[in-house]
Amino acid sequence: MPIPTYCPNPACHAHTNPPTRWLRPFGSYTTQAHGTIRRFRCRYCGTTCSTQTQSIHYAAKRHLPLRAIVDSLIEGASQREIARRYHTSPMAIHNAIIRLGRQAIAAQTVLLAHLSPRTRVVFDGLRSFVTSQDYPCDLTTLVDAEGETILAITHGVFRRGGRMTRLQRKRVMAKQERWQIPHGTMTRSISTIWNELWSYLDQSLTGPAIIDTDRHRGYRRIVERSPVYGHLRMTNRAEHRMTSSRAPRTAQNPLFPVNYVDRMIRHRLREHTRETIAFGRHSAMQLYRMWIFAWDMNARREWRVKHPEDGRHAEQGSLDEAGIAAINGISRQFFTRRIDVHGCVVQQSLEDAWRAVVVTPPIRWIIGQRGTTVRVPRYTERDLARAG
Ligand SMILES: [Zn+2]
Repeated sequence: MPIPTYCPNPACHAHTNPPTRWLRPFGSYTTQAHGTIRRFRCRYCGTTCSTQTQSIHYAAKRHLPLRAIVDSLIEGASQREIARRYHTSPMAIHNAIIRLGRQAIAAQTVLLAHLSPRTRVVFDGLRSFVTSQDYPCDLTTLVDAEGETILAITHGVFRRGGRMTRLQRKRVMAKQERWQIPHGTMTRSISTIWNELWSYLDQSLTGPAIIDTDRHRGYRRIVERSPVYGHLRMTNRAEHRMTSSRAPRTAQNPLFPVNYVDRMIRHRLREHTRETIAFGRHSAMQLYRMWIFAWDMNARREWRVKHPEDGRHAEQGSLDEAGIAAINGISRQFFTRRIDVHGCVVQQSLEDAWRAVVVTPPIRWIIGQRGTTVRVPRYTERDLARAG
């Protein structure tokens, strides 16, 4: 059980700069869900805390096997199946995924803080659905070309188009009368990625850093209107390159890194396999699951299964020794202690996913529900406030 590493009182100097031995033992108590909890008291301000304060299980009603839940999820099990496997309710698994999703987002924040500038990035949208086939969505993923490290993910739901039967069309129209996708949802999800990618690119090169995408019309509009890109393009420090999505999907294709990641997502997450009936029911939940997948892909998986000596994805020339040590530290604590984002910059896409700020269609149409909510407890807001 994790002994706190900083004082929970934001006004105390042991909150931001804890000296050694800032806390002393202060008794213990026993809980049914988590066993014996040791308590501590801050030497400077007297605030008490415990082995629960920074625990990943903080305020959980049950002590769930989080590592097993992650492994089941990325082996393609649905949440309902995981619940059956571990003799608990689907709601308990739902809550555990939210908890783990935020943890993965915190892990990504620390990883990005150690990433060295990249020379080529690739992004593309993975087409999927949320709630039903009436709501297609794109999960836009920004990937480092060298190590296929996932850098950013955003979510955008859009209107169903294409051929529909008369009955389908009627249903879609009825749904649109009750709820409309807010204007600009898709554009926002792409421009968030576009605005963030500059912080990953190496702009000190003699030649331009490359941004590869397909010929998506939405991309072109955002690129042409981007003042940052206009400036970098003029000074030969960045170049946006487009490749047809119909080009052969070989390793020579500039879009290979993102195609590779897409294939892994479809392979590992049930909701994105073709012809699935286990649809994601909430956009925020889709993002939490994607971040769990991304953390596993970036920091746990070998870069190439046949060459384990090459290390993991995030190590492909993008992390120095301190970075690798930080990622190893995170991996050790991932299922026990909430990752501290103290002093890190949290990118907009990560902050939105953490706070579940994402457009999601309602699930139940008949009773006119306005969309389910994913709760963001106050302690996780305090965790987020440590960034900056
Ligand atoms: Zn204190």
